[in-house]
Amino acid sequence: MPPRLTDRAASEPSAVPWTEAVRRGGLRTLQLNLGRLCNLACLHCHVEAGPQRREKIAPEVLGRVSAWIVRHRPPVVDLTGGAPELISGFRELVTVARRAGCSVLDRCNLAVLDEPGQEDLHTFLAAHEVGVVASLPCYLRENVDAQRGRGTYDRSIAGLRKLNGVGYGRQPELPLHLVYNPLGASLPPPQPLLEGDYRTRLWDDWSIEFTSLWCLANVPIRRFRRYLQVRGELGDYEAKLAAAYNPETLVGLMCRSTLSVDHEGRLYDCDFNLALGVPLGGARPGPHLWDISPTDLTNRPVAMASAGPRARSRPP
Ligand code: SF4
Repeated sequence: MPPRLTDRAASEPSAVPWTEAVRRGGLRTLQLNLGRLCNLACLHCHVEAGPQRREKIAPEVLGRVSAWIVRHRPPVVDLTGGAPELISGFRELVTVARRAGCSVLDRCNLAVLDEPGQEDLHTFLAAHEVGVVASLPCYLRENVDAQRGRGTYDRSIAGLRKLNGVGYGRQPELPLHLVYNPLGASLPPPQPLLEGDYRTRLWDDWSIEFTSLWCLANVPIRRFRRYLQVRGELGDYEAKLAAAYNPETLVGLMCRSTLSVDHEGRLYDCDFNLALGVPLGGARPGPHLWDISPTDLTNRPVAMASAGPRARSRPP
């Protein structure tokens, strides 16, 4: 039986002083960005995905990525996009990764569950025990629709009910993690408090259950950056982020244990570097997944893009 999502990698990152370069630990999560196509076009989207985007993983890249997974068996394979489910190769990758013994995560926008051709998506995910990480930026209709487009709240609730119906959020082998991010230029409230509010409202209003709530702050790059600029809120938001900086979070920084791969197979320390075009190692063109093995990554410095002028201009 493949490992559950609660399994830990053998090599965990350890604490680093904040004055030193952040270095990678052992690889835990291979995050595959299958392309930019999405059925939504959310205001905060840092990869600027949408229905008009055409980038997607090619069959040859899919084959090389699959072979790498089978050979190196990362503990977690995390599928994202765009809407990864809409990109051909998604189900093949799920099958390959589960057979290789990996836990698999699907970054799901929920509205995708009622797209044409996706009527059986919830049963496919459940049959393969894929963990679902689902965006739901509020439990109120007006806030969800303001960020993600009119009608998205109702589609999201329908998607959650489908997932609950096959056991997600109710059975330990079918985790359903919801993701909150603020609507505008504010930071998220404390996670446990908001999780309690979500639980109460979603249960009282819709009898919906979920496993946990993850609170994320929006990173001011790409589409969300322009949104803040247009509203004259960028400077204040960046000051807020800087004031809230907490060096203790470096221990668990995602890019120390995650490797992001774009639809061409190129490597990045994280999804935000992928969005900015800052490759693994910092110099373009970055390596492909099939150029490295997991042990090559340990102790490499994470490529950093400052939140200031470099992020404002096109990346190098
Ligand atoms: S945030 Fe997610 S759902 Fe929204 S446009 Fe971007 S990829 Fe699509």
